[in-house]
Amino acid sequence: MSDDAKLGPSAPLVIPQPVPNPDNAGFWDGCRQHVLCLQSCVRCGAVRHPPRPACPHCRSFDGEWRRVSGRGVVYTFTIVHGPTLAVFQEQAPYNVVVVQLAEGPFMVSVLIDTPADRITIGMPVEVVFDDVSDTVTLPKFRPVVRQA
Ligand code: ZN
Repeated sequence: MSDDAKLGPSAPLVIPQPVPNPDNAGFWDGCRQHVLCLQSCVRCGAVRHPPRPACPHCRSFDGEWRRVSGRGVVYTFTIVHGPTLAVFQEQAPYNVVVVQLAEGPFMVSVLIDTPADRITIGMPVEVVFDDVSDTVTLPKFRPVVRQA
């Protein structure tokens, strides 16, 4: 069967995967090792996400990858009911969260193990890693359980 013949209404559903490039490879390499790494500016020290070639604060192209805490808070969220991409419809309803990391940048992800009615703005979360394939690991978040 040619690739063209696989397309169409009966084509198998494939979850889209991120495709690393030279600008974000350090982020995805870290995720594969279960370490959350963000770009940091060598010149001014600003930490940025999503990855990009230049620092948005001082425009320097000198960046490095720095391990960050993986902790943050839910800045905002939504519950997706659909319609959505067909491949995700079976999972609906599901959440999409924007986490503000302790280091400042925001990251779009999902909150695992949490019913929609338990998600609150400002709730503390920490990163977990989901090995979705041999080459791709996604950073997701879970609530931080406070000690009594
Ligand atoms: Zn900078």
